[in-house]
Amino acid sequence: MQKMMRAARMHAVGAPMTIDTIPVPKPGSTDVLVQVKACGMVPNLGNVLANWTRWFPHLPLPKLPAIFGLDPAGIVVEVGDQVVGVQVGQRVYVNPLRSCGACQMCRGGERTRCRYFTFNGYFGFGPDSQKIYDIYPYGGFCEYMTAPQYALVELPDNITFEQAARFGYTGTSYGAMKKANATPGQSMLVDGISGTLGLGAALLGLAMGIARIFGTGRNLALLERVKSLAPERIEIHPLEAGSTSDWVKSRTGGEGVDFMISALGPGAPAKTMVDALRAVRRGGRAVNVGAVAEVLPLDVHWLMDEQIQVIGSNWFTSAQGQEVARLASAGLLDMSVFEHQRFPLDEVNNAISGLKDRNGGFSNYVIVP
Ligand SMILES: [Zn+2]
Repeated sequence: MQKMMRAARMHAVGAPMTIDTIPVPKPGSTDVLVQVKACGMVPNLGNVLANWTRWFPHLPLPKLPAIFGLDPAGIVVEVGDQVVGVQVGQRVYVNPLRSCGACQMCRGGERTRCRYFTFNGYFGFGPDSQKIYDIYPYGGFCEYMTAPQYALVELPDNITFEQAARFGYTGTSYGAMKKANATPGQSMLVDGISGTLGLGAALLGLAMGIARIFGTGRNLALLERVKSLAPERIEIHPLEAGSTSDWVKSRTGGEGVDFMISALGPGAPAKTMVDALRAVRRGGRAVNVGAVAEVLPLDVHWLMDEQIQVIGSNWFTSAQGQEVARLASAGLLDMSVFEHQRFPLDEVNNAISGLKDRNGGFSNYVIVP
């Protein structure tokens, strides 16, 4: 076992990362050590980090220098002395969701509701997050990382590490669909279906037996590519072609969809989202996992009259991640549609500084340490 490893570290917010040589960490008693084989990255992470303190002053980054990398997958190479159910050699995705493990929410299995909820390798949601970073300072942009055993998703043999590095986005879409109470036979609208989260929702919809999948987007070629995944179940609507709600209502006999997943990008206007909300049937649900930043003018009287629920969602539990892995293992969830763009650790700054040739959600950007 090597003693030292290479890690991409950011020493100042927005500054280029440097490849530093640091000691390989030792896993704590209930942790494991994972050799990182692939780590998914947020498109344009460099730009996001450079503007972080201006865009997201309420979301703390870890103390610097820090190792980023949100979506790692790899092989367990060492287990802590109190780990009994995880074996060396196991292939895993490491869910970056960290929580305290001891509060009432954590004890109830609802780690996303913990006040210490933190994204390992990215950012936290409050001042308590640094306590978590002190315990787990390793994101996926390094050769070895420690991870708590509760964060592991066991990977079936038919899922590659690059595909597993997409579990963050796919799992986020899955978590949203669980909050929408998605059940077989239903209809779903995915606003922004050709993007990274939207495509995940489409693939999961196909896997989970959603009968009719309606999707919007800006890029017609990408929309047609999404439709080609299942032309008999997926219907597409370019946003510039007119109102989304009018289109959905016209395709559903005036009824609307059972639920809507909002997966629009940060530049999308609020009115686009409000329009999509109006496509939800009476008693239906709308779940937001997108990045619309503009404040919505929301007609709450209409929500009441129609009994529509609007739900905010981010991320997913490790158990839900395991469900996604099983859908893929069974051949129901098709992860073969992703086109992997691999970057070695040495090219991390190039990789995070703006990605070219994007094919929407079909492109999958991974660092391969
Ligand atoms: Zn907790």
